[in-house]
Amino acid sequence: MELQLAPPLGSLRPFASIHHRPKASTSATAAPSTSSSSETLKPRPRLPRQSPATAVHRPRPSPARLPSLCTAIERHAAAGRHAEALDAFRLARAASPFAPLPPATYHALLAAAAALREPGAVAAVAWHMESSGAEADAYTHNRVLGAYLSCGMLGEARRVFEGMPERNGVTWGIMMGGLVDRGRPRAALALFREMWEEEEGSGGREARPRVVVVAIRTATASGSLRAGRQLHCCVVKMGPCEDDESGRYLSCALLDMYSKCGRVDEARRVFEGMEPRQRTIVAWNSMLAGYVLHGHIEDALDLYNEMRRSGVDTDQFTFSTMLGVFSRLGLLEHAKQAHAGLIQKGLPLDIVGNTVLVDLYCKWGRMEDARNVFERMPKRNLISWNALIAGYGYHGMGDKAIEMFERLVAEGVVPNHVTFLAVLNACRFSGLVDKGKRIFQLMTRNPKTKPRAMHYACVIELFGREGLLDEAYSMIRRAPFTPTANMWGALLTASRVHKNMHLAKLAAEQLLAMEPEKINNYAVLLNLYISSGRQDDACKVVETLKRKGLCISNACSWVTVKKKDHRFFFKDSLHPQCAEIYRKLDTLMMEVKEAGYFAEENELLPDIHPDEQNIPRAYHSERLAVAFGLISTSPCTPLRITQSHRLCRDCHKIIKFLTKVTKREIVVRDGSRFHHFKLGTCSCGDYW
Ligand SMILES: [Zn+2]
Ligand SMILES: [Zn+2]
Repeated sequence: MELQLAPPLGSLRPFASIHHRPKASTSATAAPSTSSSSETLKPRPRLPRQSPATAVHRPRPSPARLPSLCTAIERHAAAGRHAEALDAFRLARAASPFAPLPPATYHALLAAAAALREPGAVAAVAWHMESSGAEADAYTHNRVLGAYLSCGMLGEARRVFEGMPERNGVTWGIMMGGLVDRGRPRAALALFREMWEEEEGSGGREARPRVVVVAIRTATASGSLRAGRQLHCCVVKMGPCEDDESGRYLSCALLDMYSKCGRVDEARRVFEGMEPRQRTIVAWNSMLAGYVLHGHIEDALDLYNEMRRSGVDTDQFTFSTMLGVFSRLGLLEHAKQAHAGLIQKGLPLDIVGNTVLVDLYCKWGRMEDARNVFERMPKRNLISWNALIAGYGYHGMGDKAIEMFERLVAEGVVPNHVTFLAVLNACRFSGLVDKGKRIFQLMTRNPKTKPRAMHYACVIELFGREGLLDEAYSMIRRAPFTPTANMWGALLTASRVHKNMHLAKLAAEQLLAMEPEKINNYAVLLNLYISSGRQDDACKVVETLKRKGLCISNACSWVTVKKKDHRFFFKDSLHPQCAEIYRKLDTLMMEVKEAGYFAEENELLPDIHPDEQNIPRAYHSERLAVAFGLISTSPCTPLRITQSHRLCRDCHKIIKFLTKVTKREIVVRDGSRFHHFKLGTCSCGDYW
């Protein structure tokens, strides 16, 4: 027992050995027999980071050196040489084991131990303070508490907290903050309740705003709106704060809590309740961030304009937040202006802001601007690289995407699955089969980047676009996992486009087996059977549908105008503005014909009811939706259309022409993918 508690010199517990040297001779072998005093029954915390050799061979310092050792400890700690500070502590203890050290020395030691996250060292310092009878004030107790918490010793921290003769606002704040950092928000809130009751009972009401701020942040972190609201009541009960700063912190914390808990309106109310001089840049920024987080894009823009009118200086955080807004609303000029303002003020844009900017320019196809921002970034992360590579890919600059990918690898950055998807997509959009194959093999060779289903689907589509159906099919057969619906879907598209009925049916049957609840799959298979003359199989599909009580619904498209959805069917005449819509459709047809449009030959629509195949294409629901969108929105508003079925070739072609003659952007989400039509082209590259 004794040997365990006070090991001999030269063991790995030098701190304990030095401590027991006084009674012994300087001989190392004499140490074990000396440890008979009562203190040895207290476990000796271990001080790490010292080699046994130094402990053994260093001569015992004289007590006269104590003051200079204390100075050394403080200097080391102040300079960030934490291990050296703890070494000097060992010497100080050896020089005079039971002499209390000055408070400043203890503070330095606690800071060093906390910085090193050495629980043993914190315990050793705390134990020394206790056993040497050093007088400790509230500040010192708080330091001990903080040091235990930063080493994750919650139990010890709690013991210190409970035993403290006096607890002030800082104490509560430290304890709660420590609990939050260790992922114990509920315990932290329980502690707050304890404090609130204790202080209300004592009539002191010393609940410092600082503690309340910590509590609100805790509620925010744990997403507890209920706790947050209760804390808001506490704030109201506390009345106005003595100083402006506390009031500001409290309001900002409440605002942030409401916005992160999804109550943007309540956040706005807190914001409105703040006095104008309290509305710092932090308040404005968190309100903006709240709007963006919950998709209130227009509100964010309004607030941003109000912010600029009120003369508050925007900073890089404002810009980072607003970039997303500009991006969503298509306000490239706003983004450029704000960016220029930022550069003028000499404010550096952080890595996130820069990356969003790269992404923004990429989305607008301003690849040169994107590249400029990218090249000027002082630091880049993988997300920045991924954004640029994806941008090049999306705009059909496959070679540039591959060039950037090679540069990334050469610079020692490790690509992740997003990078690989971006570069494979680039190969797909630019038809770079060989390069795509090589990159896919590169992925396969590295166990950390084993291709996932999305990479397989991408390569299947790459092969499919180039008409390499055998290779596409072999990707599915070779996959080391069960092929997903996306992979079969890619093969189905490839075989449909290249008119390989055999493969198309195989893929459609697989899809139907995998997603029997998806009605589109039945329609696709039904149409494939009918077109290849397999009436019996077609009848079976119809029977299955009847048995399951399913029916292929009529094809329809929606367009969102002023936040309201308008639905159109094939040859629809239900809409109140029907006459106007058809008139517009007629003029549009004339305009596109003048621009060089001619009709595509007849084509079977894969995923609509066979009966609807005979309705003239001129009355397809997507055309009605586009015509309505064009007459009911202002000239530069992009149109967003959604539909359950695939676009037919003819409608796809017409929409491309329409974006050329009307200069509108039109985005269609059809049964297969997003089509982003702009100035006569579509993002799908005419393959869907
Ligand atoms: Zn159509
Ligand atoms: Zn398209």
